[in-house]
Amino acid sequence: MKIICIGRNYVAHAKELNNPVPESPVVFMKPPSALLVNDKPFYYPEFTKDIHYEAEVVLKVCKNGRHVQPEFAAGYYDQIAFGIDFTARDLQEECKKKGHPWEIAKGFDGSAVISSFFPIEEAQRSKGVEFKMRKNGEVVQHANTNDTLFSFDDIIVYVSKFFKLQVGDFIYTGTPAGVGPVQIGDKLEGFLYLQERFEHVLTCDVR
Ligand code: ZN
Repeated sequence: MKIICIGRNYVAHAKELNNPVPESPVVFMKPPSALLVNDKPFYYPEFTKDIHYEAEVVLKVCKNGRHVQPEFAAGYYDQIAFGIDFTARDLQEECKKKGHPWEIAKGFDGSAVISSFFPIEEAQRSKGVEFKMRKNGEVVQHANTNDTLFSFDDIIVYVSKFFKLQVGDFIYTGTPAGVGPVQIGDKLEGFLYLQERFEHVLTCDVR
């Protein structure tokens, strides 16, 4: 399986990092070894002093396909999860300055936190998925995936031009405004709006 990630998909977040708003999705990947499942703690790595959280809705691919046409895109994902795309912002800034790839800043062990998956509801396909994250009890990110520049379907269409989508692939769909640093001792909690109420679906302690 592969973990595909979309960057700068919410205008307010692109602006908070002084990045231009992209004309096509910004795509990068994390290796499967980056996954952190079952509410396991995240161990702050020694190679960075500036880990940021990025709360994101994650899609699970349910069908193999390449060059997916827009009218069929919705058939390629059927489950959603809450994820955290941990980012070593200091390393990423260095990589960006040098024009280097981002992998060491984005794909390190434990950088792809993921909750359980839930079936995507019909209403969520039209009204978007609402999600929020708390850090130490305070809401730091709260958004709806309808506010993205590129919809779930747009992402499927674009990504499948380059990479064959395979059953079981994950797609991190980008983070809204409100990203920020974590410190050892912090507690992150993820919530998805499911069946007309917010459900607590993820806990991640930083150690
Ligand atoms: Zn991200």
